[in-house]
Amino acid sequence: MRVPGASRLWISPERRRALPRALGYLRPYRARGALALLCVLAQSLLGAVPFLAVRAITNHLTHPHGSFTPVLEITVAAFAAMVLSGLLGVAETYLTVSLSESVVADLRGQLFDHLVGQSVAYFTRSRAGDVMSRIVNDVAGVDDVIGSTSLSLLNSALTVGVSLGLMVWLNWQLTLLTLLIAPFVALGLRLGGRSIYRARERVQGELAELTVYLRETLELSGVMLLKSFGREQRERARFAELNRSLRDSEIEAGMATRWITMALRLAQIIGPTLLLLAGGYLVTHHKLSLGSLLAFSMVAIRFAGAIQESATGLLEVIGSLAPWQRIFDTLDEPYEVSERTGARTLAQPRGAVGIEQVSFRYPGQRRAALSGVSAAVEPGQLAALVGPSGAGKTTLSHLIPRFYDPQSGSVTLDGVDVRELTFASLAAAVGLVLQETFLLHASLRENLAYGRADADDAQLLAAAAQANLQEVIAALPDGLDTVIGERGYRLSGGEKQRVAIARVILKDPRVLIFDEATSHLDSVSERLIQDTLAELSRGRTSIVIAHRLSTILSADQIFVLERGEIVQRGTHEQLLSQGGLYTQLYESQFAAAPS
Ligand code: ATP
Repeated sequence: MRVPGASRLWISPERRRALPRALGYLRPYRARGALALLCVLAQSLLGAVPFLAVRAITNHLTHPHGSFTPVLEITVAAFAAMVLSGLLGVAETYLTVSLSESVVADLRGQLFDHLVGQSVAYFTRSRAGDVMSRIVNDVAGVDDVIGSTSLSLLNSALTVGVSLGLMVWLNWQLTLLTLLIAPFVALGLRLGGRSIYRARERVQGELAELTVYLRETLELSGVMLLKSFGREQRERARFAELNRSLRDSEIEAGMATRWITMALRLAQIIGPTLLLLAGGYLVTHHKLSLGSLLAFSMVAIRFAGAIQESATGLLEVIGSLAPWQRIFDTLDEPYEVSERTGARTLAQPRGAVGIEQVSFRYPGQRRAALSGVSAAVEPGQLAALVGPSGAGKTTLSHLIPRFYDPQSGSVTLDGVDVRELTFASLAAAVGLVLQETFLLHASLRENLAYGRADADDAQLLAAAAQANLQEVIAALPDGLDTVIGERGYRLSGGEKQRVAIARVILKDPRVLIFDEATSHLDSVSERLIQDTLAELSRGRTSIVIAHRLSTILSADQIFVLERGEIVQRGTHEQLLSQGGLYTQLYESQFAAAPS
């Protein structure tokens, strides 16, 4: 018979399945775990030595005419046993710490490997702090439980087994009586397990929330936004709310098992009381010897203590299933864009780009960003993408390096579907210069060499010169060694884009995707970037999201996009003679724009 609401007493079966999977992470370190357990057992055996020594010495001293030598020998032996026990304690700590930290490092590595392989779409959807929280907070959430808790759980489970065996051997009737506490322990575990799981789930969720918030707010652009809108007080209040909520959840998680533990402690007292009553009855009726009752009571107390320790350990393990589950959810998120097994490498790409009947809809969007788009760009050609805002120009350019895969149609490089190519081969063939240049907080040298790690200074400087960066480098306090990026030396928008151009020059891709800046750069920067683009596009296929007159004038082909479709195509002159959207765009955007 199903008890109504019974499922609410326990965590769901699929959540429970996290346990064997989590245990799988311990498998490579089982030898280390077994050794640590041996150390624990040896220590508990050695713990009996002082008592035995006291007993032996007392017996010896109470014996008349006893010599002093045995006293010395026993004391030295007991001392040696204690030193050995201490050493074993050190070894045990090393083994458990190294075991848990190894598992944690494996987990962090696995999470990073998985996340870094995720598609751009995944990161568009997820909040940066949330992704970070999986690697930092969730892994930290399982850290404590892996080594010490599992070990003490094993140790106490072993004690439970041994004591139970002894109890049965001493008196099975009293053993049955002792086992009356079992249903209470089971119920305690159920209730405690459910509440600790939920509390830990909430804590991990709120930790992620806090990380997301901090990541957004305390980032340079976030702080600038906050300052410019005078939101300090409001943000302090918002943080205080998140902080309070996390504090409450942490307290709840800390208290989740307290009542259960207390109840188990009570059982620990009630058990021996019942035992004394029943045992007393059996002894008075000559059904049990006094010695057996005493021995049984001592073992039963140890049994109840071990049961309580096991239950507490088990509850901690159940609580840790919440962060484990969050980790597994992240690891199980499939790749939307993945490399096919047996993917090809293009040894010497020529740079022919084909877009064939491509339709693409962003996940969760009703309207398609691109529908039935076809275009061909020959090797070495310069193609300009133009169109009103939101027409799909950026989306189209992002399909070439496989930031996303289209739902239908195909994108080809030298006639080969890009989905057939290895990621490395595609990345080597396609270079991007985006509107928003992302620079690492590192030296200019490291930023430039990002595209080619083996480049020497001469090559770096040559690429920088091609990107018209000589004067910028000359003005930097430490030249190529100057740390740039958000928290380093601040470069202007135009200078940043030129660094991005130099980075791509070093990579030397056959296909270049260039998103011209829409923001107004000063005329010198503008001219420098245009000169650089001319230089950069020479000899390679260039697909430019065009905002400058000079670009459309020099383009071999112009594709005019509107609402995800190519509505016009041709050269500047051909398109102007056709009239339509291109003429409108030309008059409103390009004719007025700086050349
Ligand atoms: P702009 O010139 O303003 O940069 P665009 O022509 O490059 O515009 P896209 O950025 O390609 O246009 O956007 C095409 C459509 O897809 C727009 O309607 C936009 O709102 C939508 N879109 C773009 N990125 C996403 C995204 N990550 N998720 C959902 N929709 C998106």
